[in-house]
Amino acid sequence: AWSTTAGGAAVLRALDAENGTTRLVGGAVRDALLDLPVTDVDLATALSPAEVTKRLEAAGIQVVPTGIAHGTVTAVTPDLIIEVTTLRRDVSTDGRRATVKYTADWREDAARRDFTINALYARLPGGDIDDWFGGLLDLHEGRVRFIGEPLQRIAEDHLRILRFFRFHSRFGRGAPDAEGLAACAARANDLMALSRERIRDELFRILVLPRAAETLALMLALGILKPVLPEIVPECVPHLAALAGREAAWGVDPDPIRRFAALLPQREGLGAEFGARLRLSRRDTARLDALGVADPALPGDPFTAAYFRGVDVARDRLLLLGEDARAAWEALADWRKPAMPVSGKDIIARGISAGPEVSRRLQRFERDWVASGCPLDAARIDDLLAAALA
Ligand code: ATP
Ligand code: MG
Repeated sequence: AWSTTAGGAAVLRALDAENGTTRLVGGAVRDALLDLPVTDVDLATALSPAEVTKRLEAAGIQVVPTGIAHGTVTAVTPDLIIEVTTLRRDVSTDGRRATVKYTADWREDAARRDFTINALYARLPGGDIDDWFGGLLDLHEGRVRFIGEPLQRIAEDHLRILRFFRFHSRFGRGAPDAEGLAACAARANDLMALSRERIRDELFRILVLPRAAETLALMLALGILKPVLPEIVPECVPHLAALAGREAAWGVDPDPIRRFAALLPQREGLGAEFGARLRLSRRDTARLDALGVADPALPGDPFTAAYFRGVDVARDRLLLLGEDARAAWEALADWRKPAMPVSGKDIIARGISAGPEVSRRLQRFERDWVASGCPLDAARIDDLLAAALA
């Protein structure tokens, strides 16, 4: 359907898709064949990046040279973003990145892709499929199979270990391909050579999938994560499964940090420990800390958590806690942070001289007031203020 959008059609026309010079490839073909929504669109083309750029610009389409060294040009249209990559083959690899050469041979371009289901090309507008490695049958039968020899393909790019489990989680039916699985298990240590960011991104993509718990259990049984995250053990998986079940039942979208928190042993300082190791953003690190149910900075009371850490974090904590927390989770749905009814001026008016003592007293009042459920009637506020000044 994307090719009928104005942007898609214009790009296809400019790149001569009708003659097969440019074809749809990868995830978009696979997902369309399964009637799944297509999110990002990749095109493979026999044209050089310079020719692609020239033709798109001549058609008035905005072009960004995203990965020009790797042959990728991005076409930005009003309705979607399309990556256009010139046919290439890998000439050398070191497990992390490949040196590529352009080629005129479609099959060579297909052969450097990871799995057979990811190496299908669709000619548009007709929709004829090029399938050199049996990807259509594999897709139909729910099989994620490496193109070529799995051990060699993993040696070329270690990230394929994690991609194998991610695609199996999404598209696999029944037991995973035995040869691929054995190769992933044998080469798990290779993951250590990858950047933490790449491991994290791939792992987080697995974590938000519907079958994440099942896939994690499989990975842990084979020792896939041991070199990178030894603290995640099979006993952690039921927590992830339970969280995923509650998310579905309570109508919450899966979130990688929340799911990761469910998988970790519950102890203080999760953010500090894993944030640095997985190069999490500052915000994700803070969230992971706050989601550690054992976080000592937060009392168990959900309203206090909502007040000091934000309502989303508070609700995530409850979601992680379990079924018993559902009432409190629902009670927080419409919660708004109330404004403090007392300021430094009120403290000073009661005889505390200006200085650090004022903010100490104010903080004490705030803590007690929040713990009492943020009452707004004057008498209660007065009592709490008197206690804070005692
Ligand atoms: P998703 O829906 O997750 O985006 P996708 O198949 O589009 O799935 P991408 O990571 O976007 O996956 O990559 C696009 C295509 O590029 C893949 O379908 C595959 O053909 C190829 N590809 C991506 N990463 C690799 C890799 N590490 N090794 C070989 N081929 C790869
Ligand atoms: Mg994609």
